[in-house]
Amino acid sequence: MQYDVIVIGSGPGGYVAAIRCAQLGLKTAIIEKYNTLGGTCLNVGCIPSKALLDSSEHYHNAAHTFKTHGINLENLKVDFGQMIKRKQEVVAANTGGIVYLMKKNKIDTYYGIGSFKDKNTINIKKADGADQEITGKNIIIATGSKPSSLPFLKVDKKRIITSTEALNLTEIPKHLVLIGGGVIGLELGSVYARLGSKVSVIEFMDSIIPTMDKGLGKELQKVLQKIGIEFYLGHKVTGAAVKGKEVTVTFDDPKGEKKELKGDYCLVAVGRIAYTDGLGLDKIGITVEERGRKITVNDHLETSVKGVYAIGDVIRGAMLAHKAEDEGTLVAEIIAGQKPHIDYNLIPGVVYTWPEVAATGQTEEQLKEKGIKYKTGSFPFKASGRARASGDLDGFVKVLADAATDEILGVHMIGPRAADMIAEAVVAMEYRASAEDISRISHAHPTYTEAMREACLAATGNRAIHI
Ligand code: FAD
Ligand code: NAD
Repeated sequence: MQYDVIVIGSGPGGYVAAIRCAQLGLKTAIIEKYNTLGGTCLNVGCIPSKALLDSSEHYHNAAHTFKTHGINLENLKVDFGQMIKRKQEVVAANTGGIVYLMKKNKIDTYYGIGSFKDKNTINIKKADGADQEITGKNIIIATGSKPSSLPFLKVDKKRIITSTEALNLTEIPKHLVLIGGGVIGLELGSVYARLGSKVSVIEFMDSIIPTMDKGLGKELQKVLQKIGIEFYLGHKVTGAAVKGKEVTVTFDDPKGEKKELKGDYCLVAVGRIAYTDGLGLDKIGITVEERGRKITVNDHLETSVKGVYAIGDVIRGAMLAHKAEDEGTLVAEIIAGQKPHIDYNLIPGVVYTWPEVAATGQTEEQLKEKGIKYKTGSFPFKASGRARASGDLDGFVKVLADAATDEILGVHMIGPRAADMIAEAVVAMEYRASAEDISRISHAHPTYTEAMREACLAATGNRAIHI
């Protein structure tokens, strides 16, 4: 065999797996279909969306909150072309960084579409049509996902678009109609609402971010309404038609009555689907789940074929970059004979709106369903000195702890820098801390993290100091 490991796909799952394999002394190759490395996350996902979220947040603050800080600006306007150009530069710096890391770790990079000839031989179809075969003792499939749509809806990528196009528009929409009140919809909806678009969200469920703790969706809806986003919850989209520059989206309200909205763009954000096209999985007998087309794996993330593993968005579980990275590390270490472990319960989920939403562990709904007795401690940011100083008064931290043992079972927060603050909760829960443990640890003052301590104090017998 030429290689110990061949990784197909260079997203956060694939490139991290390749680096960890190389660190462990395994001769490694990585194959990427596109001519830039980094996958969805770096090219059309996490990184570009966060670049636009940051830029649009600066504009929003300059337009709406600077005045309260005593800063007056005149003739403020958005240079949208520059905003998109900067986003592209951020992407290029990150994808270039992965090329550097592949070289540094002596990983051979092949550009082209990888497909199985047999369980150890991968054919690479290059852009010029040429074929090349490489062989490996182990193969890691890390081919990720692509946007899914609704069966009756034709995404034309011009007026009816996915997140990929929404990150690369040439104009700010006048009216963006969004199908799906999940993570992508609310992040990209925030970007354009801040830049002045009218944004309407049509969500099938009765709450936005419906898979997270219900309290978070409620609070997030309130704050997003303040920046002008309107919500149609419990509404079912039935169609979308394009006429010139106008899209008409038709939908049923909860009583079944027909409604329609007209916008200049319609963003479809109803989830993503595992990407396995062209891999030739059937040639070697790899099984795929009927729903969502995800590759079936065992606890070691090995597929139904020995020596062939799969990680990240292409297998079961949350479609998150850090989950893919953790699985990349896990598989590399399993191939090297180690015994790593991932606690899937503690993979944090974050929505990068402002305020940010972040959570780890179990929701109140899950605890109720399992019949686990728990106590709750909450602390609102409006009672935090740090939040008052910055003017970020929306949101709260909610801690759920076992009623008998005080062990923290879930932490759900919406507030300033929640994306960073959730790390404390993950560490605490990994070490099975009680709410009292956290409430007895010193937290710097004034910081947003004090809200976590206060919520833990509240959970341990109403001992919060500042409420
Ligand atoms: P991917 O990143 O999808 O990479 C798969 C790679 O495999 C791609 O480069 C693809 O071209 C390549 N490939 C596929 N088939 C072949 C083949 N046959 N041969 C060769 N190469 C192939 N997650 C977060 O955790 N935080 C965020 O903030 C976040 N923001 C997001 C924002 C948006 C708009 C989107 C769309 C997603 C976001 N995600 C975020 C999700 C995150 O991007 C994915 O969970 C993550 O990229 C999955 O990593 P992966 O390695 O499994 O697959
Ligand atoms: P999602 O699953 O988060 O949200 C999709 C939403 O669409 C759901 O609320 C669902 O109820 C709704 N929906 C489904 N069918 C509908 C219909 N017919 N009409 C109206 N609403 C409908 O999916 P997404 O927002 O497309 O994101 C895809 C994936 O990308 C997610 O799994 C997410 O984990 C990942 N992602 C993560 C981040 C992050 O970590 N910050 C950011 C963006 C994307």
